[in-house]
Amino acid sequence: MGQENLSAQKRGTGGGLPTSTVANGRGRAFSGLPRGRQIHKTFNNIKITILCGFITILVLRGTIGINFGSSDADAVNQSLIEETNRILAEIRSDSDPSDPDEPTETELNLNVTFTLGPKITNWDEERKAWLDQNPEYPNYIRGKARILLLTGSPPKPCDNPIGDHYLLKSIKNKIDYCRLHGIEIVYNMAHLDKELAGYWAKLPMIRRLMLSHPEVEWIWWMDSDAFFTDMVFDLPFSKYDKYNLVIHGYPDLLFEQKSWIAINTGSFLFRNCQWSLDLLDVWAPMGPKGPIREEAGKILTANLKGRPAFEADDQSALIYLLLSKKDKWMDKVFLENSYYLHGYWAGLVDRYEEMVEKYHPGLGDERWPFVTHFVGCKPCGSYGDYPVERCLSSMERAFNFADNQVLKLYGFSHRGLLSPKIKRIRNETVTPLEFVDQFDIRRHSLVSESRS
Ligand code: UDP
Ligand code: MN
Repeated sequence: MGQENLSAQKRGTGGGLPTSTVANGRGRAFSGLPRGRQIHKTFNNIKITILCGFITILVLRGTIGINFGSSDADAVNQSLIEETNRILAEIRSDSDPSDPDEPTETELNLNVTFTLGPKITNWDEERKAWLDQNPEYPNYIRGKARILLLTGSPPKPCDNPIGDHYLLKSIKNKIDYCRLHGIEIVYNMAHLDKELAGYWAKLPMIRRLMLSHPEVEWIWWMDSDAFFTDMVFDLPFSKYDKYNLVIHGYPDLLFEQKSWIAINTGSFLFRNCQWSLDLLDVWAPMGPKGPIREEAGKILTANLKGRPAFEADDQSALIYLLLSKKDKWMDKVFLENSYYLHGYWAGLVDRYEEMVEKYHPGLGDERWPFVTHFVGCKPCGSYGDYPVERCLSSMERAFNFADNQVLKLYGFSHRGLLSPKIKRIRNETVTPLEFVDQFDIRRHSLVSESRS
């Protein structure tokens, strides 16, 4: 597993990452055109550039009466930077304009167990009645469960702009996977419960989505620092018929070793049912930030093998719950380890070239990992457990490895796993449908479905 070197990565917030750490250069446009066309293109580009420059000067002269010299251009640049910084500072500050309609916030009572909301007890019946009354929103479509993938990130900009760039790449990667596999997707940036900020924010949102979308059968949470790296692999849902929680994990690490990395909460699925609401209810009470989270962290560190001393995190809390109430919960929990529903990045990212050489997408396991999760990297925050350069270049490799599988249908590929530039991998043809038949990932899924 090699995750024992994870130390206090969930702790800190402040500080910042250096700005210029992406290992690959982001260069100019692809120039594989014949010389004549290239000159023509360059000439056109110059014309457009001059025209744009001219319009900019006219607009700026008209609006603020500036005469251009290079120092004026610098001044414009400077004021842009200042304005950006001002807006960032405003977003990052907590100075909310007060809303007279909003009820005043009550202090959390430390003597009362925290809840996610009013206790719901009859969800299965309610949901069934709703599904019967709304046949236009079925929870199974042509025999396939309706799945909603939920992911998200903090409400504010990352400590460093490169973090936001990787959040964008991560959501692009997830949109691609979901589009190809008929999965709906939600991106959440809100803290629905102010007590459950940070990695606990997923809990209230999962509950809210279950209750607001009775038509959804499974809610699939995935961290923002986890990438799909097998775009062909389909979840083997028929295995999970009798289960309500599917999570990557190892029974031995959980029940014999009581390890704090026995399961991973970076990618897991909940069935939309009463059982899941009940589990969320007993999972959440260690989450409220401040003294509760701090004290709960001490209990978790005392009870879980390898856990460093820090506040309670959602993963340790779930492990503790499953360990201490095994009989109550485990018969509906599927600990998946036959493929990488979560795959720890450090052992995988350096092997992508070898995988391409030996195997093919669709396997999902160590031969071609379904998910590569950058545990401990904190690209959006600060103080990860690994050098920033290693994290960012590894994320770039994971992204491009996955993107190559998508680009293949269109006849392109990245020039290398660290390159945002792409190259053509086959010639254009007048009979394009043959490539659709050959490369469309959706077709792969149908084939594997009919095989299983
Ligand atoms: N997250 C969120 N809102 C927040 C902070 C975090 O939705 O305000 C999500 C985000 O998707 C992040 C996940 O919580 O990936 C868990 O945190 P992280 O991945 O940093 O923990 P690690 O996997 O390194 O243990
Ligand atoms: Mn993560």
